[in-house]
Amino acid sequence: MERRVGFIGLGIMGKPMSLNLIKAGHTLIVFDLNQDAVNTVVEAGATAAHSPKEVAEQSDVIITMLPASKHVREVVLGENGILEGAKEGSVIIDMSSITPEVSRELAAEAAKKGVGMLDAPVSGGEPKAIDGTLAIMVGGKEDVFESVKSVLYGVGKDVTLVGDNGCGVTAKLANQIIVNLNIAAMSEALVLAAKAGIDIEKMYQAIRGGLAGSAVLDAKVPMILDRNFVAGGSIAINLKDITNVMDTAHEIGVPLPLSSQLLEIFHSLKVDGKIKDDHGSIVRYYEKLANVEVKRG
Ligand code: NAD
Repeated sequence: MERRVGFIGLGIMGKPMSLNLIKAGHTLIVFDLNQDAVNTVVEAGATAAHSPKEVAEQSDVIITMLPASKHVREVVLGENGILEGAKEGSVIIDMSSITPEVSRELAAEAAKKGVGMLDAPVSGGEPKAIDGTLAIMVGGKEDVFESVKSVLYGVGKDVTLVGDNGCGVTAKLANQIIVNLNIAAMSEALVLAAKAGIDIEKMYQAIRGGLAGSAVLDAKVPMILDRNFVAGGSIAINLKDITNVMDTAHEIGVPLPLSSQLLEIFHSLKVDGKIKDDHGSIVRYYEKLANVEVKRG
């Protein structure tokens, strides 16, 4: 069923996702602070609105794809925000990666106005946002999920209701531990192999079909060998996520020894001027320690 879908946050992820929703036949109403991003999506057939409130007034489903908790809170609860314009029965789908605490707070505020809310963060990065094959982990009420599931399949392939509000973003925190610790483990291995003087490309081909093989290995080793650190998933965004991981874990009494080291690696890369680079840059932290570069043989 075609819907009137509002889309707020047309960045690295939001822009290709909104283009896919237009292709899927939905009527799109968009807003972003960045006018260039708005223009691109309008050229593809969307209508521009002047505020999140205006987006909500014209939409049945309102998607947000914003950097962090403070941006989503401002856009949902702030002046000229979504809840000032949203009709009773409409549904907000926040697809940003934010804290479970803020996500649950926003869902409770939306419910007071008869507006449904789902947290539906994604994994797969820019390539899967472009292909429309993102993995989507959803938190919220089952009836709300069923009513907007078809919209989510316009941007994703595997769409899973994990539990009630906050469960989607909690799953995303777990996802971010796995992805980033994988990159760190892979980086230690690549730096060892580089300093030992073996051909990294051949080593990659030798191990990728075994137990060390992974989606992370296949996504990041070619980028590292090309010395391509253009984000993708930036250090800034992953530092935000691992900070949220640590805060959430400590709140509920879960020590995370490996993730805490990862957080320090991210802070080190930030100080080293790499905040806007892809999280594949974790390898450059290890390269500095060992004074070696991972490159083609
Ligand atoms: P981005 O910085 O590229 O895009 C964010 C967009 O939001 C920008 O266009 C910005 O102008 C807009 N924006 C910020 N504040 C706004 C406001 N108040 N009103 C309207 N627009 C506003 O970020 P991104 O990489 O697209 O990531 C978005 C979310 O998706 C983040 O929560 C991130 O953690 C998550 N995510 C990113 C990736 C990735 O690989 N980039 C992968 C999975 C999940």
